[in-house]
Amino acid sequence: MLTTNELERYDRQIMIKGFGEEGQEKLKRARVIIAGGGGLSSPSSIYLAAAGVGMIRIVDNDKVELSNLNRQVLHWDKDIGRRKVDSAAEKLKKLNEGVEIEAIDEMITEANVSQLVAGFDLVVDAMDNLPTRYLLNKAALEKDIPFFHGAVYGFEGRAMTIIPGKTACLECVYHGTTTPEEKFPVIGVTPAIIGCIQAAEVIKYIVGIGELLTNRLLICDGLNLKFTELKVKKDPNCKHCGHLGGKE
Ligand SMILES: [Zn+2]
Repeated sequence: MLTTNELERYDRQIMIKGFGEEGQEKLKRARVIIAGGGGLSSPSSIYLAAAGVGMIRIVDNDKVELSNLNRQVLHWDKDIGRRKVDSAAEKLKKLNEGVEIEAIDEMITEANVSQLVAGFDLVVDAMDNLPTRYLLNKAALEKDIPFFHGAVYGFEGRAMTIIPGKTACLECVYHGTTTPEEKFPVIGVTPAIIGCIQAAEVIKYIVGIGELLTNRLLICDGLNLKFTELKVKKDPNCKHCGHLGGKE
């Protein structure tokens, strides 16, 4: 049940066709884990908290650095040196007291990834490296948890939604390739665009409306402002999801 306060707070989204109070109640019951507390996590967590997602777990083990502040808008000058998860949790609580925020200061590894995502309705990929994305992709598939991928580089961003056993996964698309782990360029507007696309996908999935970004890799070229979609398919021989379910 929604309180009088919640009915007023979320009035404008409850008005959306197909959303209704029922959709809002689904958001309130939802448990979302956001892997990463930086550039993609900032917009996705802000908009998910504002939309009334009941519980958000943020996992990151970095501290806020000055060079983060051009894009990681949850962290401010005063937060330099603090744990990112604490800085994020503080802002999100101030934005919406009704949302439970759990801050986990851990690095995501093969040893803890399964435990971190267990019991959650979905995983938001707000990472900055492919090896950890693969770990999350695999764990989400194993636990039958939808996975919302996002990535950025300079002015370019990508997004895709993965429904285990039904749609192409990250491994189907990238086949285990990785990029060297080094400092890469990013302007804040790129994770802003992609993080918001991820949040929109998450909200649609929870509420159960619209068409998800599945089997389509969305590429946003911010420099020329072009959106391109690559059609992708679930690979029956995929190392991560080949053994799961049928096709869609
Ligand atoms: Zn796959």
